[in-house]
Amino acid sequence: QEDIFKNVISHAKEYGFIFPSSEIYDGLSAVYDYAQNGVELKKNIRDYWWKSMVQMHENIVGLDSSILMHPTTWKASGHVDAFNDPLIDNKDSKKRYRADVLIEDYAEKLNIKALKEIEKARVRFGDAFDEAEFVATNTRVIAYKDKERAILERLATSLEKEDLEDVKALIEELEIACPETGSRNWTEVRQFNLMFGTKLGASADTAMDLYLRPETAQGIFVNFLNVQKTGRMKIPFGIAQTGKAFRNEIVARQFIFRMREFEQMEMQFFVRPGEEMKHYEFWKETRLKWHLSLGLGKENYRFHDHEKLAHYANAAADIEFNFPFGFKELEGIHSRTDFDLKAHEKFSGKKLQYFDTELNKNYVPYVVETSVGLDRMFLAVFATSLKEETLEDGSTRTVLRLPSVLAPTKAAVLPLVKKDGLPEIAHKIIEDLKWDFSVAYDEKDAVGRRYRRQDALGTPFCITVDHQTIEDQTVTIRHRDTMKQDRVKITDLNALIQNEVAV
Ligand code: ATP
Repeated sequence: QEDIFKNVISHAKEYGFIFPSSEIYDGLSAVYDYAQNGVELKKNIRDYWWKSMVQMHENIVGLDSSILMHPTTWKASGHVDAFNDPLIDNKDSKKRYRADVLIEDYAEKLNIKALKEIEKARVRFGDAFDEAEFVATNTRVIAYKDKERAILERLATSLEKEDLEDVKALIEELEIACPETGSRNWTEVRQFNLMFGTKLGASADTAMDLYLRPETAQGIFVNFLNVQKTGRMKIPFGIAQTGKAFRNEIVARQFIFRMREFEQMEMQFFVRPGEEMKHYEFWKETRLKWHLSLGLGKENYRFHDHEKLAHYANAAADIEFNFPFGFKELEGIHSRTDFDLKAHEKFSGKKLQYFDTELNKNYVPYVVETSVGLDRMFLAVFATSLKEETLEDGSTRTVLRLPSVLAPTKAAVLPLVKKDGLPEIAHKIIEDLKWDFSVAYDEKDAVGRRYRRQDALGTPFCITVDHQTIEDQTVTIRHRDTMKQDRVKITDLNALIQNEVAV
């Protein structure tokens, strides 16, 4: 699995999808740039989300609020006081860790240890192996398996109670259970605020401390009444937004899974108090359906319902995706009650209420939110689509089986040779298609190699212009996934491509 992940990262670089930021200065940790193909794929994911959330819902409208907001916003939202991660340093290695992530890793190591024991026994006993019986009679394995769950439960409780001493004690206990995990020379655990600070204003004494927003949601909350009034919105209604968010993550790793600068796609749905659970269930199902519509495989998704809830929520679930490093959060669906709007009322002294004409009364609406990371979506789509295939003749090909609707380039137009007027015809075809699709031209190398290159870029169609084209105005169209080639009329190309890449 590690190899698969490495492959994903190097493919993203080699084919112009993602580069490390400021690479000539050796990069900046957990910050990435989207390159010529990556920017198209990312934009297509964003558009796919926007279309399904805003265009397809009469009662959802968009917003593009600013990254910099009045600093009181973050006091009201609770981020100044509570947007923390527990941090611990190892005195020997001088490395810094997020204590909860470290514990999760150790717990997983214990589980892997248990699975290895089972695997060894399976090899030893062959057909006679019965896992249930083995586990039941092997106390060591039982201990490992049960311990993992117990550890994670204890971690959640300690974090909730902010019992940082217990978090440290857990790390120490785990190192005894799992000696290969390393040294036992840790600092105390302390809370670390994840917001990036900056300043507004030039002179030192008048400058105002600001934060880069750690989530886009607050821009929606503070604009709630502006949008509701000017858009004459009636509850239930939603406000959707995509945009950058910044978090000073302690351990940023796993490529674009956990970044310090990333993009969110969020929608806040304002509902009548008391009706939130109905909407919460609706959005859970609707969002899962959206993910499934991309065709990456049903088995790659699962819900994780939160038992322990954040202070502002009365229900919360994650949609987890099977990333190359296992199931992890891709999207969160939260029932946030009236926590945020009430807090903004309190801190701003302004009423943020809605007059419900049917009930004939004023109230602060409840909120159900859906929040998905655009970069995580990118990673999910990209990593799952990247395949190494062995063909019938024994050769291999690398193909990026992207959902066609998301592919950066929909068709590449390739003249068979660089002469006899074929490049001119190819350019003419591009002139016609480019109004509707992103198309590319390539004349370098043998046509077989050009096909492989487009496979690796995820281009669903290659259109080849040859000498027959001059005679009968037909071309060869090759399909990325099946590698099947058909002879078609140039005038049919647009409809053919449209049929495949339309949402
Ligand atoms: P995690 O537990 O993985 O840190 P979170 O629960 O803090 O995530 P939310 O605050 O619910 O995440 O943010 C909503 C979504 O934003 C997440 O589901 C994820 O897709 C995305 N996201 C959050 N933090 C990051 C990050 N550092 N890099 C990339 N995407 C992120």
